[in-house]
Amino acid sequence: MKVGFIGLGIMGKPMAKNLVKAGHKLVVLDLNKESVDELIGMGAETAPSKVELASQCDVIITMLPNSPQVKEVVLGEGGVIEGAKPGTVVIDMSSIAPLASREIYAELEKKGIHLLDAPVSGGEPKAIEGTLAVMVGGNKEIFDKYYDLLMVMASSVVYVGESGAGNVAKLCNQVVVALNISAVSEALVLAKKAGVDPELVYQAIRGGLAGSTVMDAKAPMMMDRNFKPGFRIDLHIKDLNNVIDTSHGVGVPLPLTAQVMEIMQAIKVDGSGVEDHSSIVKYYEKLANI
Ligand code: NAD
Repeated sequence: MKVGFIGLGIMGKPMAKNLVKAGHKLVVLDLNKESVDELIGMGAETAPSKVELASQCDVIITMLPNSPQVKEVVLGEGGVIEGAKPGTVVIDMSSIAPLASREIYAELEKKGIHLLDAPVSGGEPKAIEGTLAVMVGGNKEIFDKYYDLLMVMASSVVYVGESGAGNVAKLCNQVVVALNISAVSEALVLAKKAGVDPELVYQAIRGGLAGSTVMDAKAPMMMDRNFKPGFRIDLHIKDLNNVIDTSHGVGVPLPLTAQVMEIMQAIKVDGSGVEDHSSIVKYYEKLANI
């Protein structure tokens, strides 16, 4: 089985590396030549175009920023759809709008090409470790066939339903992360302003009910003033925009999520959109005059 991999960014590069390390034959592409060269150095191949890549591969993984990039790479002129044989499977692991996944699925099916939407959670550390959580939408039989391939990059791979369901699950994930990261920020700022060492407060509460994966990943970054991404504020805003579009579409008010999205927007306007989303703490510090 030959695996195509398009999108070697913060997440895609370590995911592709894990596939190579597991012995898979990989053909990779990215706009960034350095990332492609790094994978070639590990034994992967590249192709002169997306069409060439698609014509050589049985399965093609995409790990791109958002819906427009995935649509362009898969359905656009010179895209995967022009090279892929009927029976080829595209696994889009990017976080995109569920509606966009369903549109891409329908266009590919017309040519006998199948799509799984399989976004991930866990961030760069878990991408490196190969312990991501993957949530998958699409045809169940195709899912079963590619479960083992996905497990190379993950410690949890869960089928959640028809096309688009994987990205609905990812939006739910992003709501929980956004509110949790805000709660951690508020708590650390409160500790500091009340004259108690935030590090000790973190150590005191992380083992109790307040403890979470978000707290353990992000509280140390906030205290160390390390805002290197990780997961950029502008990508989280992208996800929350998709959340709000989806929630409006199905009639679910999400007042707290909307508020956190505006806070992230304020941070982006302030020039920190490329920082890790843990930099949301700076907003709360400003409010508290720290
Ligand atoms: P990134 O910006 O680091 O990587 C995107 C990659 O896609 C870049 O290397 C870019 O060059 C490449 N690319 C863009 N357009 C392309 C094109 N037309 N052809 C070929 N390559 C192209 O982003 P990331 O942080 O790796 O995130 C990728 C996806 O994973 C996003 O949807 C994001 O929301 C999601 N995600 C990110 C994290 C995280 O912690 N960073 C965690 C979970 C999910």
